[in-house]
Amino acid sequence: MSCLNFCQKCGSNQLLKINDTLTKCQSCHFEIYSNPKPTATTILIHEGKVLLGLRNKAPEKEKWGYGGGFLDWGENAYNCAIREVKEELSIDVLDLIYLTSLEHDYEYKGDLRSINSTVFVGQIDFNQVQSIIPADDVEEVKLVTLDELANHELAFEPFSTLVRERLFAYLGYLPKADLVFLRYQIDLTDNELLRLFGLRMNLVRHAVIYKSNHKLQELNQDRWQQVITDKLKKATKIGLNKEFVRSIWEMIHKETLRIESQIKSKLNK
Ligand SMILES: [Zn+2]
Repeated sequence: MSCLNFCQKCGSNQLLKINDTLTKCQSCHFEIYSNPKPTATTILIHEGKVLLGLRNKAPEKEKWGYGGGFLDWGENAYNCAIREVKEELSIDVLDLIYLTSLEHDYEYKGDLRSINSTVFVGQIDFNQVQSIIPADDVEEVKLVTLDELANHELAFEPFSTLVRERLFAYLGYLPKADLVFLRYQIDLTDNELLRLFGLRMNLVRHAVIYKSNHKLQELNQDRWQQVITDKLKKATKIGLNKEFVRSIWEMIHKETLRIESQIKSKLNK
């Protein structure tokens, strides 16, 4: 954490460090929290190549890295990622996908800073690549293959390497993976699956309440068949076993119906 000498409220130097996060002012009793700062990181991909930017500002000046920056007030990580791409590359991106969230400490002007970054991945097309104008803290950009990225020196280590490993797992690019790495990635992915199941069922809860408030019809059998057909088509494309995917969606459907009837019985009380 950064070192504090004076209270930011009353200016007293009577500060008592309680722990790494909390410092209390003995004079005015103000509590000063040193939390990690939220940032967004964006990895842009064009035809299987990753876009890197050369930093023209400290920290990590003259090093290549992904895009991103600190969240502004009132901004969420996703909006921050989109704004930073616009500021650094002068292009608009849509449909960024959440990749991971990582914390990272680094030293800047003698202070140890801590950030927590939400990392997104986005695809850009030929026109977008052509429209890039490096600006802000980016001097120039280049596209590198995954092989090149695997051996590329990057700004903000070890954060950048952890992000790179997560990206490689996401893209299915695992030339040098060992068992420890693979287990770590499987573990992270399982946690993501749990998070997504939780998110999905929360959306179901909201949909049931919405439908009830607007007197709308329940999911009918035709719509359900459509959903299953669509999932099986997508599953085949990415090499998943059809029966595996069918049984997962049957379980999801069963749980959805259970949640629906549970909420409806509460709403009817
Ligand atoms: Zn004070």
